[in-house]
Amino acid sequence: MIRLSGLHKSFGPLQVLKGVDVTLEEGKVLVIIGPSGSGKTTLLRCFNLLEVPDKGGISLGGISLSFDGKRLPQKDVLALRKKTGMVFQSYNLFPNMTALGNVMEGQVTVQKLSKEEARKRALKLLVKVGLADKADSYPHQLSGGQQQRVAIARAMATEPELLLFDEPTSALDPELVGEVLKVIRELASEGMTMVIVTHEMKFAADVADTLIMMDGGVITEQGTPDQVLNHSSNPRTLQFLNRFV
Ligand code: ATP
Repeated sequence: MIRLSGLHKSFGPLQVLKGVDVTLEEGKVLVIIGPSGSGKTTLLRCFNLLEVPDKGGISLGGISLSFDGKRLPQKDVLALRKKTGMVFQSYNLFPNMTALGNVMEGQVTVQKLSKEEARKRALKLLVKVGLADKADSYPHQLSGGQQQRVAIARAMATEPELLLFDEPTSALDPELVGEVLKVIRELASEGMTMVIVTHEMKFAADVADTLIMMDGGVITEQGTPDQVLNHSSNPRTLQFLNRFV
């Protein structure tokens, strides 16, 4: 069980998370939706401590941390980060490495695998995301959808317990969105534990076990996609969802 409790996070005077509680069972998919600026990305980045909360606690993969505004020991940050993989909106691939090199990198530097072992595993992952034939291509030779699929393979390469996705399709041309969502759907059906921030409502409805709606730094709705998308009576939720009709 992954648990975030009572999370608070401010940037200077701006309070972005105002007491957020989330639990997620292993093998389940949590999707976060909500208006721009509501704190979705900040919450996602707290799962792997790219943002360190000011207050609250995180328990993930046998590690429990609590936050009180003091600097966290780097070893705690790294230990938690090793349990997660992250896919960013803008792919963030290493431009000077091939697709294969990108997927191998974390295995060699973080997991200390031999290059041969890392290459074998990376190739398997590229097959999984449908890019076996692009192993030797550099990011600039790939479409956005292909780059994002490499990024997913890279995030999985260190065998994380949790995969985090920050609006994984929002930088893509519309015709490339489907190929990326397909890979994420497959991972969900294989029981990968995931947290996804997205504006793709249909995808959210399909893939989420639990859907969270954030607004103004708090969770305003939480439930199955059907409960949140079809049976909410919260006027702010309805106003937000109306934009996607
Ligand atoms: P969007 O859908 O537009 O990506 P979001 O719901 O993901 O929005 P966040 O990115 O979490 O929202 O940002 C919430 C608020 O915190 C915004 O007002 C944003 O400008 C601010 N913010 C986020 N990161 C920082 C930072 N590092 N420094 C200062 N302010 C920040």
